[in-house]
Amino acid sequence: MNPIEPQRGVTIIGGGPAGLMAAEVARAAGAEVQLYDGLGSVGRKFLVAGKGGLNLTHSENTDAFVARYGERRCEVGRWLRQFDAAAVREWARGLGVETFVGSSGRVFPLDLKAAPLLRGWVRRLHASGVGFHMRHRWLGWDDTGAVRFAHADGERRVRADAVVLALGGGSWPVLGSDAAWVPLLGDRGVAIAPLKPANCGFDVSGANTGWSEHFARRHAGHPVKPVIVECSDATGRRIQRQGEFVVTASGVEGSLIYALSAPLRDAIAVHGTAEIRLDLVPGRDAQRLARDLAQPRGRRSLSEHLRRHVGIDGVKAGLLYEVLSKPQLQDADRVAATLKSLPLTLLRPRPIDEAISSAGGVRFDALDEYLMLKDMPGVFCAGEMIDWEAPTGGYLLAACFASGRIAGGSAARWSSPTRTPQQSTTTSPPGRSR
Ligand SMILES: Cc1cc2nc3c(=O)[nH]c(=O)nc-3n(C[C@H](O)[C@H](O)[C@H](O)COP(=O)(O)OP(=O)(O)OC[C@H]3O[C@@H](n4cnc5c(N)ncnc54)[C@H](O)[C@@H]3O)c2cc1C
Repeated sequence: MNPIEPQRGVTIIGGGPAGLMAAEVARAAGAEVQLYDGLGSVGRKFLVAGKGGLNLTHSENTDAFVARYGERRCEVGRWLRQFDAAAVREWARGLGVETFVGSSGRVFPLDLKAAPLLRGWVRRLHASGVGFHMRHRWLGWDDTGAVRFAHADGERRVRADAVVLALGGGSWPVLGSDAAWVPLLGDRGVAIAPLKPANCGFDVSGANTGWSEHFARRHAGHPVKPVIVECSDATGRRIQRQGEFVVTASGVEGSLIYALSAPLRDAIAVHGTAEIRLDLVPGRDAQRLARDLAQPRGRRSLSEHLRRHVGIDGVKAGLLYEVLSKPQLQDADRVAATLKSLPLTLLRPRPIDEAISSAGGVRFDALDEYLMLKDMPGVFCAGEMIDWEAPTGGYLLAACFASGRIAGGSAARWSSPTRTPQQSTTTSPPGRSR
């Protein structure tokens, strides 16, 4: 077995946005920093996020922003106070990437790409002296407390002054965050809330199970817009939102569904299924629709009648045919009422592998305010592996960046007990002598 290598300063495990930010802050605080990742390069999920435009943060006011983190708004709000949306934009500018605020208030890089930002960021970290160790898969700790890595040259063991774990959640495991850390920390007694899909799609129950074959073949991949979705959370509170979603082979996904996915997921956990109601004709009233539909149809097909008189065709007409029987489709009042409130039953969230992000993770009560594990002094956590969730809109990266800064600064302070808090971080983290 290879000998244990002493490593001064801060050892960061996981090179996503949280780990990279921790490395940046720890290095700026004067710590030696070594960053390890199981894959051949860092920031794989960050790069994939770039395919959707790389929504870095959101420009809305602080109260609205922080409310996006639901039950975790206090804890995450505290992180964000130290690295808010303006700070994220300034930071990107420092890497030569200007940002803009889109019509929805979301903040993106001007070129909507992640690669230039990531390249510049990694180059700057290299130049500042951060050591990168790729294809090092973290395996936990050995009996002496050394950190273990699986590597092609054999197992490496490192004795670190301070460790930041930034291992990500459980979604899209192919991008590196496969949640293999859960049992490794669980075995050490760290309290972990089970990982669950967040910002995810759902399977529907049609007349039997799922869509009819005809509907799925014809409409999978088609957007439904504009549409209002109404549903109830696990406690029965009604929620309504307008936007768009996409029909999939077995259900629904897309921005509007993601925005409602946490309450829908939790409602399914409590009640077994969740019903959503679709208003396919927002802004038009059912009586008027019924009058228009009651006009004589002559020899025209029902599809043509729907298209001409109420402007319903394509996937929206398909949805109507999915939920109404032939006789029901002849009833103008029934059709009008269904267009205003079309019921779909959601059976289950899609698997966590397909979700944009995951909920659950290291519980806040296992961490102190510096994001150090209370029962594992010198081990800090950051990013999506902590037990918070948020909708899409830049809120995920915003919290990963901000928590990475706190963990990195705190770890730098921990690794160097003689340094004053002001030198090492803005958050007055603990010193080892504490
Ligand atoms: C398709 C998609 C689009 C997205 N778009 C956006 C967006 O526009 N805006 C937004 O805010 N968020 C977006 N997100 C979410 C965002 O990318 C994540 O929340 C964020 O990347 C999480 O950062 P992290 O640093 O916590 O973890 P990750 O980015 O998952 O990084 C974790 C790192 O740890 C490494 N690792 C894991 N386990 C081990 C191990 N055992 N040993 C060694 N290394 C390990 C992994 O290889 C990985 O590099 C998107 C996600 C997806 C999937």
